[in-house]
Amino acid sequence: MEALLIIDYTNDFVATNGALTCGEPGQQLETYITDLTVKMAAQKDFIVFACDLHEQEDPYHPESKLFPPHNIRDTDGRKLYGTVATAYEHIKEEPYVYWMDKTRYSSFAGTNLALKLRERNITSIHLVGVCTDICILHTAIDAYNEGFTVTIHEKGVASFNAAGHEWALNHFKNSLGAKVL
Ligand code: ZN
Repeated sequence: MEALLIIDYTNDFVATNGALTCGEPGQQLETYITDLTVKMAAQKDFIVFACDLHEQEDPYHPESKLFPPHNIRDTDGRKLYGTVATAYEHIKEEPYVYWMDKTRYSSFAGTNLALKLRERNITSIHLVGVCTDICILHTAIDAYNEGFTVTIHEKGVASFNAAGHEWALNHFKNSLGAKVL
């Protein structure tokens, strides 16, 4: 069994009017992420929807100084984008599907993700979503440090920063030993 992490593929990060959107590069991932989700769900791989969570007023959160408010609890901005949302609705009750709130860039920071992977004997994880050079990067670094094998799907990741996206893809390969498909 392997795991697929779908990271921050929400309206705020992807939709044209999203609060912190990747815009078109993010929207172009929609079909790829949906198809990969359906394929890995059919294999009963472990499907994790790792989703940024913020509170309306949170002066203590470090991102409050860096970014406009985004992915606020119970808002449309925090809902999954497009057909990925549809795919989630179809499989969300399955035992191999896990919705995981996270409050930092890395999906491992302050979450039980490593425990969830280890109790399933999963050593290999696949990453898709946004942004390549922020949440995907920090998740990949923690996965590397935790000893997981990481595969990044190039057609499944994007950023609002083209240079950052390219840099991160090289970093995954050259410094983290990840597979970039
Ligand atoms: Zn955030």
